[in-house]
Amino acid sequence: MRSAAGLIVASLVAAVVIAAVWFWTASPHAGALHAGLSAPATVAAAQAEALPATAAKAAATHDDVEVTASIADQAAQQSKAACANPDALGVSRVVEIDTTGGPGFGFEHFKQLDFLADKEVVLTFDDGPWPANTPSVLKTLADECTKAVFFPIGKHAGYHPEILRQVAAAGHTIGAHTWSHANLNAKKITEQQAKDEIEKGFSAVKLALGAAPSPFFRFPELQHRPSAVAYLGTRNVAIFSCDLDSFDFRANNPDQIVQTVMTKLDKLGKGIILMHDFQKHTAEALPTLLRRLKAGGYKVVQMKAKAPVQTLAEYDADLIKDMKLPVASTRPVSSVVQTVSQ
Ligand SMILES: [Zn+2]
Repeated sequence: MRSAAGLIVASLVAAVVIAAVWFWTASPHAGALHAGLSAPATVAAAQAEALPATAAKAAATHDDVEVTASIADQAAQQSKAACANPDALGVSRVVEIDTTGGPGFGFEHFKQLDFLADKEVVLTFDDGPWPANTPSVLKTLADECTKAVFFPIGKHAGYHPEILRQVAAAGHTIGAHTWSHANLNAKKITEQQAKDEIEKGFSAVKLALGAAPSPFFRFPELQHRPSAVAYLGTRNVAIFSCDLDSFDFRANNPDQIVQTVMTKLDKLGKGIILMHDFQKHTAEALPTLLRRLKAGGYKVVQMKAKAPVQTLAEYDADLIKDMKLPVASTRPVSSVVQTVSQ
């Protein structure tokens, strides 16, 4: 009897504590405490915003940018904690890259930094974000609780910022892949145009995300213009080639991609894998490919940057200026447009 009474008292105390915590966290004045708890809602809201809102975000203060980045980190931790697949491929280790001086990765072109152990792979995806294919790739990566590095095209980031923000919210690493996917090694491209392609690409990704991406860059078609490689060194941007190219963009079907990657991987034993989230066949091949990696004993390494890229202010400003008819309102469509008669 006494223990039952004690239980009732304990329950009442617990209820009061829960109510107090709810009142505190629900209060608009809760401040710092509340900020952490409301992070997921903030990420979701950011994903739902349209492009003009992004411009306002990009123009926000440095402090805001840092907060956005930490929200992405929290989302990453939550997705890791929430992995529901006990047989998932997962992430075996996370490496942090100090990009000072522009280190190069990927043995097809850069042979100095041999950081992967046997059976370790890095998943990389170029040319997105793109409707259907990028979300499909994200779903497959989430199902396997694993992480990749994405190299979006600046123009595509401008077309589909909400998809790129989903990539960030899922905790993947994001670099850049030029503004318009120009071959920077082509003779007709001037030094200035090569610089513009690189810088505008990073600024466009930053504008889409509302936060600066990682200082990771991949040359379109892996065409490394020597002067641009040197320039990236002065900008402290790491350059990504690859160890094995999936050639997914010319595959006739998903199976061909799986076979190409697994054959090369079984020969090399490890490596940075180049794929394209822009490609339909790649999105279709990915569930099978990740299962094959798991079955083959391969482990995924996620590469993260020690610090975000420092974009150049004039490129950030030019992009915002180029956006037609920017609007100040960031209200969601449901609060602006109401059906009053049907
Ligand atoms: Zn590309």
